[in-house]
Amino acid sequence: MNDADVMVIGAGASGLMAAIAAGKRGRRVRMIDHASRPGQKILMSGGGRCNFTNRTVSAEHYVSSNPHFCKSALSRYTPGDFLALVEQHRIAYEERAHGQLFCVHSARDILDMLLCESRQAGVLLDLDTHVERLERTDTGHFQIVCNRAIYRCSSVIVATGGLSVPAAGASALGYRIAEQFGIPVRPRSAGLVPFTLQPGDKERFATLAGIAVEAEIGNARQRFRENLLFTHRGVSGPAVLQMSLYWEPGETLWINLLPRIELFAWLREKQRVHPRRTLKALLSERLPQRLVAAMLPSEMADRRLQTLSHAQFREVAAMLQQWPLKPGGTEGYRTAEVTLGGVDCDALSSKTMQARAVPGLFFTGEVVDISGRLGGYNLQWAWSSGWCAGQFA
Ligand SMILES: Cc1cc2nc3c(=O)[nH]c(=O)nc-3n(C[C@H](O)[C@H](O)[C@H](O)COP(=O)(O)OP(=O)(O)OC[C@H]3O[C@@H](n4cnc5c(N)ncnc54)[C@H](O)[C@@H]3O)c2cc1C
Repeated sequence: MNDADVMVIGAGASGLMAAIAAGKRGRRVRMIDHASRPGQKILMSGGGRCNFTNRTVSAEHYVSSNPHFCKSALSRYTPGDFLALVEQHRIAYEERAHGQLFCVHSARDILDMLLCESRQAGVLLDLDTHVERLERTDTGHFQIVCNRAIYRCSSVIVATGGLSVPAAGASALGYRIAEQFGIPVRPRSAGLVPFTLQPGDKERFATLAGIAVEAEIGNARQRFRENLLFTHRGVSGPAVLQMSLYWEPGETLWINLLPRIELFAWLREKQRVHPRRTLKALLSERLPQRLVAAMLPSEMADRRLQTLSHAQFREVAAMLQQWPLKPGGTEGYRTAEVTLGGVDCDALSSKTMQARAVPGLFFTGEVVDISGRLGGYNLQWAWSSGWCAGQFA
């Protein structure tokens, strides 16, 4: 039997931060993880450079069935607080577009920093530890029965993350624990994930794999203007990943492949100046030739501008600037960066992350129904929510 004040299940981003915060308060903290190494997703994040936060973080950067829930934690442990820790550890970082902060060298710097802080806070870490069951004892304590030991504690912080990337240790344990204690779990799906195409579109766009263009993609609720990348399976790139957070299966999206110009007016102007140019040659000034060939019927693309009517220009503008795309689906959890849905925010205190109906039981990080956009927002949520739980556990 191993006793602790606080047991943290999951030694990822949020669990490490929660353990550090609780340990610094003098609590006896123990972390367990079924993986053989802690913080695997931190190491994978930001292409190995860890986009650990963003200069500007607010509720609008998150998707949740309760859009206000994240505000408290984000305002109590801010990007500035995390940055101060990074600077204290003299980790080199850089700011990229849209306020995204990345390590200059490696994501390993962030993980090493957190492991160092957790050692200093006296946190114990047991890896390769599989939870068999979690029970509440008659005395109001919790007992966690694992393959290697039984742990007893007064608080449990569930920081088991989402379902994305099973190869990095993802599991549904956190949701199961919530359900066991009668805490609702909102439906889950893959987020920040590439779209796959319907069979017809897949064939039509098969030759475009590797092509990237600046594009705008949207639906009635959201729109994003960033790069769009054609892949062997469908479409990806930042614009698509962001949009996947706001997409419902079966929904048709619109894509503007030339978001910088008013295409109809541009075509009319070019017709006046270069009447003998073909439409294909003209559009290839602004789009890769292969993309033009895939988007427009050849009998239209091969025509000289002087032979095209204004109605036909409008058709071309619609094909390229309001391209309706109905994805076949997404690539799913295998490649998703986050999991949408999760433990229902309404069942938790936004200040402490404690389950309202189960004193001593906390949920933090991605297991909660909060998903951030691309740009360091998911890790900031992991840090903020973990820190808050660590103040009260
Ligand atoms: C490829 C990739 C790149 C990303 N890049 C970024 C980025 O640059 N910036 C950003 O903000 N976000 C990024 N994210 C998202 C971010 O990594 C996660 O949102 C964040 O790690 C969530 O933190 P967490 O602590 O809730 O979960 P995790 O970091 O996933 O940690 C969960 C921990 O729980 C453990 N666990 C799971 N099940 C069990 C179980 N049954 N028993 C015991 N332990 C268990 C896991 O082994 C893991 O250690 C990326 C995600 C991916 C997949």
